[in-house]
Amino acid sequence: MPKAERIVTTTCPYCGVGCKLELHVQDDVIFNVTSPFASVVNHGNLCVKGRFGYDFIYSPHRVTVPMLRREPQFPGTRTQAFALSEWREASWEEALELIAERLTAIYRRDGSDALAAYCCAKATNEDNYLLQKLFRALFRTNHIDHCTRLCHAGSVMALQLAVGSSAMSNTASEVIENDVFLITGSNTTENHPIIALQMKAAIEKHGAKLIVVDPRRIEMVNYAALWLPLLPGTDVAVFSAMAHVILKEKLCNEDFLRERTENFAAFAASMEKFTPEFAEAVSSVQRDLIVQAARLYAGAHNAAIYWSLGVPESSHGTDNAFSLIHLALLTGHIGRRGNGLNPLRGQNNVQGASDSGAMPWHYPGYQPVDDEASALKFEQEWHIESGGLNRHKGLTTTEIIGAIAPGGVRSLYIMGENPMMSEPNLNHTRHKMQDLEFVVAQDLFINESGAFADVFLPATSWAEKEGTFTNTDRRVQLVRRAIPARGQARADWEIICALALRLEQRLGRAESAKWDYAHPSEVLAEMGRLVPEYAGVKYARLEDEGLQVPVWDDQHPGTPFLFEGSFPRGRAKFHPLDFRPAAETPDQEYPFILTTGRVLEHWHGGSMTRHSKLDDLYPEALMELHPEDATRLGVEDRQTVRVSSRRGTLVLRVSITTRTTLGVVFIPFHFREAAANLLTNDVLDPLAKIPEYKACAVRISKADESELARPQATQARGRY
Ligand code: SF4
Repeated sequence: MPKAERIVTTTCPYCGVGCKLELHVQDDVIFNVTSPFASVVNHGNLCVKGRFGYDFIYSPHRVTVPMLRREPQFPGTRTQAFALSEWREASWEEALELIAERLTAIYRRDGSDALAAYCCAKATNEDNYLLQKLFRALFRTNHIDHCTRLCHAGSVMALQLAVGSSAMSNTASEVIENDVFLITGSNTTENHPIIALQMKAAIEKHGAKLIVVDPRRIEMVNYAALWLPLLPGTDVAVFSAMAHVILKEKLCNEDFLRERTENFAAFAASMEKFTPEFAEAVSSVQRDLIVQAARLYAGAHNAAIYWSLGVPESSHGTDNAFSLIHLALLTGHIGRRGNGLNPLRGQNNVQGASDSGAMPWHYPGYQPVDDEASALKFEQEWHIESGGLNRHKGLTTTEIIGAIAPGGVRSLYIMGENPMMSEPNLNHTRHKMQDLEFVVAQDLFINESGAFADVFLPATSWAEKEGTFTNTDRRVQLVRRAIPARGQARADWEIICALALRLEQRLGRAESAKWDYAHPSEVLAEMGRLVPEYAGVKYARLEDEGLQVPVWDDQHPGTPFLFEGSFPRGRAKFHPLDFRPAAETPDQEYPFILTTGRVLEHWHGGSMTRHSKLDDLYPEALMELHPEDATRLGVEDRQTVRVSSRRGTLVLRVSITTRTTLGVVFIPFHFREAAANLLTNDVLDPLAKIPEYKACAVRISKADESELARPQATQARGRY
């Protein structure tokens, strides 16, 4: 291996753990990745994605020049263009001018509600802050969202309503201080591998007891004292039955209930019906296991709950999260080191993108768009006339897709996201995307959504730009440029500013907000003036290990755990619950429950890992099927099957395994050839507006090998 000319310390672009990376560079090429042992986040450990998954930067399929569609596209007949021949190269000048002209024309004709933007949880805080600012300040629309809506929106909603803050309450490494911890809806080993290492250390070196509540026999079950294999969609029943046991056996923390909570009586009354017998009947979890889990959790001195997408991705995801929050409030396992509620955030910067205002109901810092004082504050900072900002909540991601129609949303600006992989019910999404009038994609690759675009803007990768990410435990960390941009690619924040300056001229808003930033540090400083939790987050203070927000001022050291002494809303509020099943349950026609998720080697829509050598490690979608179900269907391991829901069909091979439970099948959602979201249900949680990815009814039949779809990689290539 060559000796590095320079080693650049930065932050991993994949999951929310936020591991520190050292990029080894020779001749402006990254040839190795390591991590310093002294890192407080990952102690020198990296998973396969952080260690080896950086080569997508050099993929021949990466597009590094601005591109325009050769043929004009029209609503109703818009097509996907994967072939190079369907695009032509353009100058930045031509591409930005066309975007400014078309967006301005649509805005003048149809108004603010015709424009929508997807921000990006892979992009930096500064990128996201600026894109939401552009659409809010210049087009006066709040139709701005990103993939947090599709992952933790139910957790965010419940935590905001119950305690007034939606972030993880503990530092991830505090798990070693737990006597007991509970994991639910999180395949932690594969999705947050370095946190899983710390969890295993807590068990093996410190004697912590683990409770796993999950439909699949995930790897962490091997370390668990108890495993509660619930049926998908029955979380409220199981966790409320635990609350029922805690109440009946008087295992509550009475002082905590009296001093720090409200609405207890109404909540306790609603728990009467959640007997362990009831929970067993709907969830298939044995009542004894529920009782044991309740006693173990309540009896601990230090206990914390960790969850991921299995909890919020439901048509009652907010209720699911409430049912977890209640356990912490009943027992007082919150507000102390090693005690708390920890929604493990998926993408590297989903916490930061949310903090930065990439959401339709909130300005940066979760300040409501329909709150007059908040709106006035942003108008003042952005030099907008009083009353100029839109006071109406915008549409969420799935609502934006649903609103694409004449008289509704006509244009979509997509920064780094891929709704044609990530939205539920993809056949419906495809139909809607075809009906858009004007589409912009800003990314590294022309993905399934970018293929619908009129204009493609080439963005730099994380290794080619500067900025900050905020990881799952609220640590704001630096992203440093290690190599020059490939081809003509530009950093997202630079693209947004260049476009904003053109739009200002066209819209006659030249007196408005600042866009001539010299560096992302100036953007972060502006955000700090508007978001109290970021007031003390300055670039100079992030050089070593970053800072955990809230950081209230320039002297504040950051906040390792939340809610000591009080909650942001004052007292934490209990919410009475009822049990509601998943919107679709198995029946004769569709007898299996499908649940979806991630695998270790891939990341979300695969936009990076499927352009990496990681794809060789896990090259195709496999559906997990229980051996008894396989016998009933007459299906053998690796045989090809057709899976259908009420919304679509896909063909893929099966993996016969006891990782999944009887009657439940699992499909990873990374593979465009067998996109799991062709099948998933686009029914939404009424409060959080998150779709039901984790439970829908499907049927399975044998298929022929020849029916397997082949990868449809874009042929468009960059010029280096
Ligand atoms: Fe990157 Fe997450 Fe793996 Fe760490 S655990 S190396 S942050 S993908």
